[in-house]
Amino acid sequence: MTNIFTVDLEDWFHVCGVNALSREQWGRLPSRVEATTRWLLDTLDESGVHATFFVLGWIAEQHPELVSAVRSAGHEIGSHGHEHLRAYDLSPEAFARDVRRSVAALKAVGVPSVTAFRAPEWSINDRSLWALGSLAAEGFGVDASMAPVRLVGSPAFPRHPHVRQTASGNITEVPPLVADRFGQSMPMGWGWGLRMSSPGRVLRRIEEVNRAGLAAVLTVHPWELDVDPPRVRLPAALHFAHYFRLDGFRNRLRSILTSSPFGPMGPYAAAQTGG
Ligand SMILES: [Zn+2]
Repeated sequence: MTNIFTVDLEDWFHVCGVNALSREQWGRLPSRVEATTRWLLDTLDESGVHATFFVLGWIAEQHPELVSAVRSAGHEIGSHGHEHLRAYDLSPEAFARDVRRSVAALKAVGVPSVTAFRAPEWSINDRSLWALGSLAAEGFGVDASMAPVRLVGSPAFPRHPHVRQTASGNITEVPPLVADRFGQSMPMGWGWGLRMSSPGRVLRRIEEVNRAGLAAVLTVHPWELDVDPPRVRLPAALHFAHYFRLDGFRNRLRSILTSSPFGPMGPYAAAQTGG
């Protein structure tokens, strides 16, 4: 069983809803994405892992060579939107516009086709299911934006890949790895849940879902791999999501990547749905 490794390719200041990190500030903030992504590319190479990178269109515009490096290392490229906007904050028209801009930016740096999407901050949920129809209409076949946890998604969302039908066609939803802890569905394959867990615990959970016939989907951001991340004042929940236990995460991640087989999302999604 090959598990799935994904990356949301964005800079440390791509946080939704924080004035000090608003779109107008991005050009003035010190970029950290090159060094952290290069570390990740080296580590994936050493581990023999090909991943799916959900690239922010704005990053493709600002760092075209970085996106080329990701591509030439053999990784799959998907879209993370253009300006890091939450789907449920947008009208369907504005969402479609942002998605189209991201695809145009990716095509401009040589990505031949873009068919997989992940919304910023897991923002396709019960408030924004219409977005799946928009994605299908724009030619996307895979979405990975629905987290089966409270706060950003819903524990009621399926934990396995499944087809969502929309008026514009079907789209395959591929959710991230969760675990039941403290009586709740918790993130295990991403964010603070992945960073707080020992590699042993993550690998045991991966084995559990593999035994059930499913691949585990893991996700990181380059800024989680920054050994000296810029610090800004964030609301408590965001502070936790961004800064909790970054210490030692590079080593824990490397240990996970070298202990289980990982690959990109596209082939798995296609195999799950017979297409
Ligand atoms: Zn993001």
